[in-house]
Amino acid sequence: MSILKIARMGHPVLRAKARALHPSEIRTPKIQQLIDDLFETMKEYQGVGLAAPQVHEGLRLFVAGFPPRKDEDEDEDDDREEGDEIPLMTLINPEIEMTSRDVVEDWEGCLSIPDIRGRVPRARHIVVRAFDRNGRKIEMPASGFTARVIQHETDHLDGILFFDRMKNFQSLTFLDEFGRYWSGHNVRAE
Ligand SMILES: [Zn+2]
Repeated sequence: MSILKIARMGHPVLRAKARALHPSEIRTPKIQQLIDDLFETMKEYQGVGLAAPQVHEGLRLFVAGFPPRKDEDEDEDDDREEGDEIPLMTLINPEIEMTSRDVVEDWEGCLSIPDIRGRVPRARHIVVRAFDRNGRKIEMPASGFTARVIQHETDHLDGILFFDRMKNFQSLTFLDEFGRYWSGHNVRAE
């Protein structure tokens, strides 16, 4: 497995619309390797999601999630909210349907926009339909932080960054100031 270079805001690959994978491509060694490398890269940079365009691959595919925290010593991110844990997932050609009109605003970060946080409105409840890494069709309801991450990553496949979704830029915050003034949760980036 390899740790891949992450494209940063300004690289055109982040603004392009990614192409769908044909189901027969999913199980090829090239795509399976890409998925493994996405997980490895996400872990290395402590992200909670990573989309293929962020590693210069214009494909409709992302990985997300982090394993439940073991009982590490009680450290400062103990205020992570219930429901913040996200199962590891690989979603290919995802399609999102909003299942309620509820919109919630919360903090987001992005590995392609390092060390910046901002508040972004997102649908609270969604259903996502996609293929998994074995090429099986899946349909998954998601809420809260999980739904937020899935929406953020799916946006990457359409060349949309979280700045584009903000109502205004008043909450834009550097990471140090975020930690100092705006609590500690969701400090991971997508
Ligand atoms: Zn991102």
